[in-house]
Amino acid sequence: MKPARKKRNSYLILIAVIVLLTAILIGLVSCGVPKLKQDDSTTPPETTDAAASTGQTDTAGTADTTDNTEATQPSTPAVDPVTMRTVTNVNVYVSPDSNAPTVATLAKDTQVDVIGKEQGWSAILISNQTYYVPSETLRELDQYLIVIDAGHQSKGNYEKEPVGPGSTEMKIKVAAGTTGVSTGIPEYKLTLAVSLKLRDILEARGYKVVMIRSHHEVNISNAERAEVANKLYADAFIRVHANGSENSSVNGIMTLCQTKDNPYNADIYEECKELATLVLDEMVSATGANKQFVWEVDTMSGINWCQVPVTIVEMGYMSNPEEDERMALDEYQQKLAEGIANGIDKYFE
Ligand SMILES: [Zn+2]
Repeated sequence: MKPARKKRNSYLILIAVIVLLTAILIGLVSCGVPKLKQDDSTTPPETTDAAASTGQTDTAGTADTTDNTEATQPSTPAVDPVTMRTVTNVNVYVSPDSNAPTVATLAKDTQVDVIGKEQGWSAILISNQTYYVPSETLRELDQYLIVIDAGHQSKGNYEKEPVGPGSTEMKIKVAAGTTGVSTGIPEYKLTLAVSLKLRDILEARGYKVVMIRSHHEVNISNAERAEVANKLYADAFIRVHANGSENSSVNGIMTLCQTKDNPYNADIYEECKELATLVLDEMVSATGANKQFVWEVDTMSGINWCQVPVTIVEMGYMSNPEEDERMALDEYQQKLAEGIANGIDKYFE
């Protein structure tokens, strides 16, 4: 009996061990299956709980992170986003199509992360979602576009245009300008000479520059000149002129902007005033000329039509013999242009 019982006991032990091993094996497998399922699950709290209960927090955590990274990969840009700024108020579209629904409007000078460009549209990220804006409404953070208008042209155009958008008050499209009392130089030649120097200085300093005109035989009204700057979303629009007075002793530099109550563009008064003030100060500093003042006025169609920061620069009086002679000099023109450029630099500081 004893040996038989012993043998039976051995069998029982063997069976018990097999059952135990099987149970452990089933246990491992059954533990593993739900764990894998929960790892694939998109509900992180459950995954965390399951991982904690299996005592494999680290492993599960690692797997979890990997899974999430892979899951979000498609909406993550392949390239690093480039931060750009809006140059006007910009509608944000759900697809690159001007008929597509819009989801928001970004104010001018908002920074956005750009992840791609295609056919006039830029893909931007907002809260990790991709939206679209017209590429022309974005500009690099440190890239400024200056539009320069050399005042007047070889022949004035005495047809009339509204003094501002929607106005019934009419003003001639573009005057002939004044003439140097001593040099006989017409204003349109002086303004272009200084404007070309200003262009060269600004480009050398890294600005992007667009000239309204680069020769004299054009016919562009003051409103049309403003529209060019508007369409390009110029960061600053500099209109170069020279002054005239019935009093030949009057001399010096003045700049112009609108009043804060201008009916057309009072919303950009602060920017225009700052631009006009800085350009005047820096021109006086560069040339040593007499400082007049910033003239705030709402009768200039060249200002009223502007939707971008603008100032009219009156470089000096062609009716003053000394100043007229001085402005004809190449070196003095260079100083005038450098002064304007310095004012523009300060404006963007
Ligand atoms: Zn003028």
